[in-house]
Amino acid sequence: MRVAMVSYEVYPFAKVGGLADVVGALPKYLERQGVAVDIFMPYHKKVDENAPKFGYVIEKVSEGIPVPHLLTDEKFDIYKTTLPGSKNVNVFLISNKYYFSADEVYAGPDLAEQAIFFSNAVLESIGRLNFSYDIIHVNDWQTGLIPPYLKTLYRDDEVLSKVASVMTIHNLAYQGLYEPSYMKFAGLPEYLFNIDGLEFYGKMNFLKGGLIFSDVINTVSPTYAREIQTKEYGEKLDGVLRIRSSDLYGILNGIDYEEYNPETDKRIYVNYNLQNIEKKRENKRMLQRELGLPEKDVPVIGMINRLVVQKGLDIMAEIMDYVSLFDIQFVLLGTGDKEYEDMFRKLGERYPDKYSINLKFDVVLAQKIYAGCDMFLMPSRYEPCGLGQMYSLRYGTIPIVRYTGGLADTVKEYNPQTGEGNGFGFEGFESADLLKAIAKAIYYYQDKEHWQRIIRNAMTTELSWDSSAKEYIKLYQRAKAKRQ
Ligand code: ADP
Repeated sequence: MRVAMVSYEVYPFAKVGGLADVVGALPKYLERQGVAVDIFMPYHKKVDENAPKFGYVIEKVSEGIPVPHLLTDEKFDIYKTTLPGSKNVNVFLISNKYYFSADEVYAGPDLAEQAIFFSNAVLESIGRLNFSYDIIHVNDWQTGLIPPYLKTLYRDDEVLSKVASVMTIHNLAYQGLYEPSYMKFAGLPEYLFNIDGLEFYGKMNFLKGGLIFSDVINTVSPTYAREIQTKEYGEKLDGVLRIRSSDLYGILNGIDYEEYNPETDKRIYVNYNLQNIEKKRENKRMLQRELGLPEKDVPVIGMINRLVVQKGLDIMAEIMDYVSLFDIQFVLLGTGDKEYEDMFRKLGERYPDKYSINLKFDVVLAQKIYAGCDMFLMPSRYEPCGLGQMYSLRYGTIPIVRYTGGLADTVKEYNPQTGEGNGFGFEGFESADLLKAIAKAIYYYQDKEHWQRIIRNAMTTELSWDSSAKEYIKLYQRAKAKRQ
């Protein structure tokens, strides 16, 4: 089985969010199970910036390649490197000075043109490199036009006509909605612009193209795969997803057990495991010291998030004054909407001994929080998979979540009778229920026997990529069978 995996973000070359973690990890685990994977991504400026830190070497493969279907004379070059931690996962970098020279991943002259250019460059590269892939695995809206291209302009291509396509939705809310005029730039046949194709309320919808034309679709948790077929979570694409229901799967993301291991993680203060769990407390003390919080044995609740409405910050706003009545500390790390940055800044000013508000992006502090806190808060409105709760479970930091999407698939309510369960949560999107869940966690924190049990359950939760990689192989086989 040979797979071309296509993504705008790949860790460690260029990361913005969870997508990069997935595409940076999954190929390593597929490789171990005998699948040959090549990755295709844009040659962002960040790729050069991160090279010294991660020690990958980049070489040029080919240059001056045109994209014949597009309304542009821009050409691209192909560079190549290897995914760190893999044996043989090639990473092909699509380079073009005009489209991919911005400081950030999602920046540049025109995000729609960039996505179209990249998608075409990938298809042209595959034709040129002449690798006979079984599967093209595309991710999110930036690569959503690849399946429609395969089924139209490349339908008779000797190499590409045999390739099956798999589309993964990492977050349905981001769809790539643009003016219909981009159809012309993209060189796509006009007949595709209708309700059964790329048209979406008068706009061109890149993600919808992928959802309609890929051979199989998946998203990053079984619960989210069900939720997005409903009006409430469907982001106006639930109808399309219901039509494709028999080709739609949910595969939970794993986490990189080597990168995220409290026993070996160099970014945390003191390493620990289940056998010497008392060392976790040292991480807590050191975190309190670094952040200027009183060094007391009270429950410390962490939160690491993009500060956007998806993350349930509006229901948090309603209850944080009540939460502040408890003898607790709260550590926030995040950046995002001004409204929420202001909300947290004010809480920090009002309760300086309880709140540590860190409005920045800092991966080292993030690890110290995963290791040093007692609890981790994720009251999301929706959550395709969520990585934060998985990292915190692995570090014995007990998640308090809203049971939706991947949060519902990874966190199980603690049951004091059976001793099972690895966290606390609530179902409806109500601030009173969130408050109750936090209070419940604080209650069990006081009981050392129960708390040790919950930590044990958390740290032994199965979250590795091994089983998810097996599921992806099954998905590829289904796509291949459909194509044949
Ligand atoms: P999403 O993909 O919706 O942002 P996830 O929970 O799936 O949410 O992934 C978020 C990832 O980004 C996690 O690895 C989290 O630790 C990290 N992250 C988010 N905000 C920050 C920040 N301010 N500093 C460091 N890491 C962050």
